[in-house]
Amino acid sequence: MTDKPIFTRSFTQQEPIPAAAMDAAMLVLQSGRLHRYNTAPDEISETALLEEEFAAFTGATYALAVASGGYAMGAALRAVGVGQGDKVLSNGFTLAPVPGAIASVGAVPVFVETTDNLTIDLDDLAQKAADSGARVLLLSHMRGHICDMDRLMAICATHDIAVIEDCAHTMGAAWDGRPSGRHGVIACYSTQTYKHINSGEGGFLTTDDAEIMARAILLSGSYMLYTRHRAAPPPEVFENLRFETPNVSGRMDNLRAAILRPQLADLPRQVKRWRTLYERMEVGLANLPHLRLTQRDPREDYVGSSFQFLLPQWPSARIMAFVQACLSRGVELKWFGAPEPVAFTSRYDSWRYAPAQHLPRTDAVLAGLMDLRLPLTFLPEDIDLLAAILRDEVIAHHA
Ligand SMILES: *Cc1c(COP(=O)(O)O)cnc(C)c1O
Repeated sequence: MTDKPIFTRSFTQQEPIPAAAMDAAMLVLQSGRLHRYNTAPDEISETALLEEEFAAFTGATYALAVASGGYAMGAALRAVGVGQGDKVLSNGFTLAPVPGAIASVGAVPVFVETTDNLTIDLDDLAQKAADSGARVLLLSHMRGHICDMDRLMAICATHDIAVIEDCAHTMGAAWDGRPSGRHGVIACYSTQTYKHINSGEGGFLTTDDAEIMARAILLSGSYMLYTRHRAAPPPEVFENLRFETPNVSGRMDNLRAAILRPQLADLPRQVKRWRTLYERMEVGLANLPHLRLTQRDPREDYVGSSFQFLLPQWPSARIMAFVQACLSRGVELKWFGAPEPVAFTSRYDSWRYAPAQHLPRTDAVLAGLMDLRLPLTFLPEDIDLLAAILRDEVIAHHA
């Protein structure tokens, strides 16, 4: 027991905020002008600059920085007209802010099944797109796994369903050369600490649709200062909308924007680092009986900020023993099949504000689904130790 190697790094420790971002933050603090519309004459706020840079980064025409990823999704749903009692299609396997955003506008989630590769099940989507009466799909690229976007968009076009993309785990990723978030009518991103750029809390909403962006800006609490936005449509688009759009405040502030701008500029380099860790983990766990790795479509250009594997058909008692054994060696796994939700691992059946739904294929996948974060504070050698511990314990515990 004592001679077994132990993993000592923290799965929740991110890198420090870069020095350039700290300097930028100090300037904002010294100015006292933290509110995005509080600018000196001729000054362009950090928030407005960040929005321009984020639009350029993704290729979207318009971008809005907001208070959180969850806020972005709620605003997106409102901006396309989702309201009380409307049905919204979404992934059965996602995290709580996704169904939460649907519930926040009084709408009703209709969950879609999950494949073994952790993407939305497109056959089930086609069925529910035809049968449910939903006009919107809130598509979560959960854990950075991107489905066949060409087929998904074709299904949604056939049924006249608007697609809103939740890109919390795909900022910096792409499908077949097109950045994630550039397929649907709106994309939502998060800059919360555990995502790809870190402002504690924060998010973005992007779109090419001028009216949708005008609505989103008004919703976010622009008062009548929308002309201060730069990655935004011209004032005439706001002319009528400004009287009919409620203010649901959720702005980003200049302090967060200041620390995000240098991180966004550095994101392509960080994505390469994540890929290195992820691919090393994949090699480390390859060809292990009783453990299944997810298969990635060659068109998917993912980030790899977290890692998933499946223990198919393992009885839950054995999985529990495996999780415990890993934990005793410093490896903190999240198990989506646990009977009670722990940390972020809640399941569709724990969102009891939504009508009860039965997703047998998702249940079978989640029963054996293990998840671990790969923060950039891990070194490639750490991944080797991590993989060695997981291999040992899989061999020791498999059915
Ligand atoms: C983190 C996350 C979000 C957005 O979360 P916020 O904490 O509100 O920024 C949305 N979807 C998924 C899948 C997430 O993990």
